[in-house]
Amino acid sequence: MSGDASPQPLGGLPVAAIATPVGVGALAIVRMSGEGVLSIADRVFQAAHEPETPLSASPGYTARFGRLHDGGEMIDEVVVLVFRTPNSFTAEDMVEITCHGGPVVTGRVLQLLLDNGCRLAEPGEFTRRAFLNGRIDLLQAEAIGEMIHARSESAYRTAVTQLEGGLSKKLDTLRERLLESCALLELELDFSEEDLEFQSRDELVSRLGTLQDEVARLIDSYRQGRLLREGVATAIIGRPNAGKSTLLNALLGEERAIVSHMPGTTRDYIEECFIHEKTMFRLTDTAGLREAVEEIEHEGIRRSYEKIARADLILYLMDIGEEDYEAEITTVRNIAAEYPATKLLVVANKTDRSASAGERMRNIGEETGRPVLGISALHGEGLDALKREMNAMTEGLDKLHDASVLVTSLRHYEALRNARDALQNARELIDAQSETELIAFELRSALDYVGEITGKVVNEEVLNTIFERFCIGK
Ligand code: GDP
Repeated sequence: MSGDASPQPLGGLPVAAIATPVGVGALAIVRMSGEGVLSIADRVFQAAHEPETPLSASPGYTARFGRLHDGGEMIDEVVVLVFRTPNSFTAEDMVEITCHGGPVVTGRVLQLLLDNGCRLAEPGEFTRRAFLNGRIDLLQAEAIGEMIHARSESAYRTAVTQLEGGLSKKLDTLRERLLESCALLELELDFSEEDLEFQSRDELVSRLGTLQDEVARLIDSYRQGRLLREGVATAIIGRPNAGKSTLLNALLGEERAIVSHMPGTTRDYIEECFIHEKTMFRLTDTAGLREAVEEIEHEGIRRSYEKIARADLILYLMDIGEEDYEAEITTVRNIAAEYPATKLLVVANKTDRSASAGERMRNIGEETGRPVLGISALHGEGLDALKREMNAMTEGLDKLHDASVLVTSLRHYEALRNARDALQNARELIDAQSETELIAFELRSALDYVGEITGKVVNEEVLNTIFERFCIGK
């Protein structure tokens, strides 16, 4: 961490990049940002209607039609749009050139700008500049990335809400209140010889309690937000040959949908989802989870549970035609004990194979205290009832208390959890009547964690991972 990020102009060469996707299109946009871009534009652009004031002497939002030229050679007919600091996306002087679409044209336009004093922008550099110049905070920068990559209406909506700044405001207030308590404690440290208390310990504990509750609410909203955005993470687990692949295919059936997520977020590979009524179920990490039960039995329970930990809903599939199911009852009990908050449904497959399926299911239900549902994945029997049950079990998981303060990113979630832990440590230290210095240290780190989310506290590594995910030109 390197302290507070106050907006500061970035020196160095202005940057340029193609802002529209590569490929053939009617139009494309090449843009540049930074000091001197208006003079660069003047050098390479000839307005169609003379006489004109040069672009560098024109007000912001001036648009001109004309030609780009490289010495004597005409490159393209374009429209040039001028933005003046601080009223631009990056808060710097910017020029957007709308040229004809197509990889060769846009490549030539970009080259022209590079030859005239720009350097190629790094991925996400325009957004990074907007952040470093104080135009947007880190949350909003991320929201822009989420918006571009959104593949569903709800993902798009959550990004818009985040861009509007609801969560930013909430975190800023939280941070200010923390800062107050922290400042009072540090004041005590300054006057430590005089043994002063600027806020009573009781008062501090109660303040911290309120803050902790608010942080906890935000942490809860992460699960709900993720459900909205990514669907109910559903794990199908069970012994080999229980029929997991068969069930997977039967569930995906005609409702099969492939959803891919942006690289670097929680998942960066293609996952399979299906929607039943309005709920999206995401069959997660199925490759890994297929092995999970075998590992539970062979490699010790702990390791396998790691894989199950990410699920919202577990379908424990067993072959009801098998005589010996006592060991599985123990496995189901173990999973239920380890993950009390995760929904767990026992699914008895291959009911077609066994005449005594009903009796076995009742027995399993009694012994595990879990609902047991009979299906035949192969023949498609009981699947509608299964989907209904899955819906019923997960209903309400995605109900939001307050849509304006939704935490949707794993990064924010983790920072908030760290903040919560630091607050908890602080409270325990107060209870143990520990030294003020130790309490202040915990509050400071809680502050840093909250600040990291909006970018009030700059962590170079965090910035890099965020902006690497953007494409060049954003
Ligand atoms: P996995 O190892 O758990 O993924 O199990 P599979 O889906 O590969 O199924 C194992 C075997 O059980 C295959 O031969 C399936 O055709 C068969 N199977 C799956 N579901 C049923 C069912 O409902 N009834 C019957 N009789 N066989 C099934």
